[in-house]
Amino acid sequence: MLKLTDVTVKFGLFEALSHINLEVGEGELVVLLGANGAGKSTIFNTISGLNRPSKGDIRFFGNSVRGHSPDKMVKAGVVQCAEGKKLFSDMSVEENLMMGGFVHRGKRQQLKQSLTEVYDLFPILKDKREDPAGSLSGGQQQMVAIGRALMAKPKLIMMDEPSMGLAPLIVEQMFSIIQEINKSGTTVLLAEQNANAALKIADRGYVVENGVIVLQGKSEELFNDDAIRKAYIGA
Ligand code: ATP
Repeated sequence: MLKLTDVTVKFGLFEALSHINLEVGEGELVVLLGANGAGKSTIFNTISGLNRPSKGDIRFFGNSVRGHSPDKMVKAGVVQCAEGKKLFSDMSVEENLMMGGFVHRGKRQQLKQSLTEVYDLFPILKDKREDPAGSLSGGQQQMVAIGRALMAKPKLIMMDEPSMGLAPLIVEQMFSIIQEINKSGTTVLLAEQNANAALKIADRGYVVENGVIVLQGKSEELFNDDAIRKAYIGA
């Protein structure tokens, strides 16, 4: 479904990503592991069209999407759910969700249906639909961010650190919701520092260090890898 071949991204002279080869199959849940600053967000921003690779190619369903604008990528079905949520905090929960459906404006029936699906997934958001998004707890704001991305009806959803700053119990719920989103047919690319929780739900993973993919494999393989355990799981 998505294939990055030899993708290199530079910011001035600094090479933030070097020769990235990465693949996500339809229906998969794939995780990118890596410390702060490793390059996970840069990979996402490059796929979603915010960064332009200086080298390499990005294919989505076999077609090159290198250099496509972010809105073109959203229309193609690639939607990013940004780190730090980036909600419109003074706007209501429902207004924030509706912003995510912008590419489908005009299709009122579809938007209504998508909103129902988001509220089924996150019932608490229905109760709080008229509240300002900024008044919600961290976990609920994360739900709004994911719900907003789902409103675009993505084929591939990219989630950047969805567990960041959440209490352990909420993290567990968040990962089971991500798994549910994947099981209901949306392909998921997840960036996480919480390797333990992420590898439990992922099919495969890549480890990013200093802009380079240093390791890849099935989740069980990565989970049992000594170096991974030491660096990311702490056991
Ligand atoms: P984090 O979880 O902290 O976001 P990350 O793995 O997602 O970490 P990136 O944000 O992708 O890491 O950053 C990778 C490297 O690229 C870092 O050294 C960062 O400082 C640098 N970088 C990212 N964006 C830019 C930019 N727009 N201009 C210059 N350097 C950048």
